[in-house]
Amino acid sequence: MGNNAIRNVVILGSGCSGLTAAIYAARANLKPLVLEGHEPGGQLSITTLVENFPGFPDGIQGPELIENIKKQAARFGAEYQMAHLVSVDFTKRPFVLNLGSQQLLTRTLIIASGASARWLGLPNEQALIGHGVSSCATCDGFFFSGKPITVIGGGDSAMEEALFLTRFASEVTVIHRRDSFRASKIMLDRARQHPKIKFLTDTVVDDVFDVKQKEVTALRLRNLKTAKEWDFPTSAMFLGIGHEPNAKWADGHLDTDSDGYLLTKNYVFTRVPGVFACGDVQDRRYRQAISAAGTGCMAAMEVEKFLEEEGR
Ligand code: NAP
Repeated sequence: MGNNAIRNVVILGSGCSGLTAAIYAARANLKPLVLEGHEPGGQLSITTLVENFPGFPDGIQGPELIENIKKQAARFGAEYQMAHLVSVDFTKRPFVLNLGSQQLLTRTLIIASGASARWLGLPNEQALIGHGVSSCATCDGFFFSGKPITVIGGGDSAMEEALFLTRFASEVTVIHRRDSFRASKIMLDRARQHPKIKFLTDTVVDDVFDVKQKEVTALRLRNLKTAKEWDFPTSAMFLGIGHEPNAKWADGHLDTDSDGYLLTKNYVFTRVPGVFACGDVQDRRYRQAISAAGTGCMAAMEVEKFLEEEGR
């Protein structure tokens, strides 16, 4: 399809939600174009074993699951393009998507841009990303074989990262700011029972060192109950503290909550007719691969209905 052609539907994001939308839209003969952003495949592509996606009694690796869904959508005619979305003109129909060096025209848009890992905002954190500070255990864990590793957070992501990192680390310390955990019981129990994993609770990280050496050597920690501060030697700090929705480019155009998650009615409707949102960018409650897939399906079905009602 040429650059000036008007698309029926563009899907922003190639995670579980966007790709499920692509399967449904492609099977409806809408020839969807999926824009793959800076994290192709979304969060599943950087996770390990997925044990709760129906249909896989022994679990499936996240990247394999995502690749399968991508192939499934391609089989019905979905197209893919690597692109960074700069802005969308929501005031005109067709909508105009500004990709920097290129513009795309589309009758409908499905926003499935997901959410990205959150950082702590420490003074030295950004300078040490890629040098021992990471939000992706599957990507970077290998580099710290035989070394002590620290994981920050008290949710399922932190437990999953900690468990995965035991494959490489000499020991893993989970640092959490409270003494109760958001993590599911099964994940927390697994981490607690693992001989390589230790916990430091009621503790926050105030900074990470050492920028000069270009590697992580220690964390400055503070116990919130005793106010005690100390330097804790470690070789890496992995963040497992949740995610930020990827919808900054929609600021002022679509409704968001105070944390930037897109607000939708009837699951997937934004306030702009023809623009639908699905997956983690609009779901701060469930945030599961299966619920993201579910709203992806709904968004594509609403696109089909919307175009049909317009006589397309
Ligand atoms: P989450 O459940 O929101 O947990 C984030 C954790 O990070 C919380 O413990 C939170 O502490 C902590 N935190 C947040 N900001 C912090 C800060 N600035 N400083 C220190 N700590 C901070 O996020 P998640 O673990 O990424 O999980 C998100 C969803 O995905 C959940 O529904 C989860 O079940 C699901 N998930 C499932 C699996 C699996 O089943 N295999 C794996 C990963 C994720 P507080 O508790 O004090 O707020």
